Amino acid sequence: MDLYDQHVHSRHSFDSQADPGANVDRAIACGLAGLTFTEHFDTHPDDWTGCTYDDEAYSATISRLRTDFGDAVFIGKGIEVCYQPDRMDFVLDFLQRHDFDMVMLSVHYFGSLAVYRRENWTGLDTVTGTRSYLETVLDAARFCQRLHQTHGRVFDVLGHLDLVKRYTQRFFDAYDISRFDDLLDEILRTCIAADLVPEVNTSTLRQELAEPMPDADTVTRYARLGGETMSLGSDAHRPEDVGAGFEWAATMLRKAGFHHTSIFKERRQVMIPID
Ligand SMILES: [Zn+2]
Ligand SMILES: [Zn+2]
Repeated sequence: MDLYDQHVHSRHSFDSQADPGANVDRAIACGLAGLTFTEHFDTHPDDWTGCTYDDEAYSATISRLRTDFGDAVFIGKGIEVCYQPDRMDFVLDFLQRHDFDMVMLSVHYFGSLAVYRRENWTGLDTVTGTRSYLETVLDAARFCQRLHQTHGRVFDVLGHLDLVKRYTQRFFDAYDISRFDDLLDEILRTCIAADLVPEVNTSTLRQELAEPMPDADTVTRYARLGGETMSLGSDAHRPEDVGAGFEWAATMLRKAGFHHTSIFKERRQVMIPID
C-alpha cells in the first residue's frame, strides 16, 4: 500500500527547525511512497511580518532534494495557505506566479482572530468558539466553490477542517465536534462541489486528543455524502513525526468505505489505492 504524507513542514516555515533532508530520510525509513512539503504562507497582517516563506530558497531546496534522492521517494512542493478573506486577491495573484505540486487551504482563524491564541478566547465558551471556527471553514470552502466556477481548481486540499478542537481541548480541557454535524455536513458537501479534497490530519493523535482531524464519524459521513477520497497529512514540524499515525488513518478510511487517497503532482490529482 502506497502512503503519501501531504502535510510536512521544514525550516522554510517560521515554526519549524526541521532539516528538509531529514524529513525525506524519515519518510523513506517509515516506508512512505512520498511526501509533500507544505510550508506556511500566512498573510494576515498579524502574521505576515513573521511569515518566513521564501519561494526561491524553498524551490532550491526541493530541486536539491530531488537530485539527492532520485526515484527513492516522491518529493512534492506544496504550500499551506492560511485563509484570510481580506487577503485572497493577494494570495491568488501569488499562487498564479509560482509553481506547486499541491496547494492546501487551511483555516487558523475564527473570524478575524487567531484560534491558537488563548487571549482570543476571552468571553467565549467552547460551543460558541467551535461554531465560529466551523462557520469560517464553511466560508473558506464556499470561497473555493465560487472560485472553482470561474477559475477551475485553485485549491487542492482543505487542511485540518476541525482544528478548533485542538484548542478547546488545550484551553478548556473539552471538545465536542459532534453537536455540529449539520455544519460539518455542509462543509463536506461544499468540498465535493468545490472539487476540494479534505485532509485527514494525524497531528492530534500525538497531542492532546485521541482522534485525528476530522474524526472517524465525520470521515464516515463524508463518504455517505458522496466523498470519494481524502488526503493524508501528519502536519509534522519535526522529522520524527513524518508519516506518524498513517497506518491507523488508512484503516479508518477503509472502514469508512474509501478505496483511495489523493495526492497531487504538478497540480494533477492522482488517486492512490489503499485496499
Ligand atoms: Zn495548519
Ligand atoms: Zn501545517
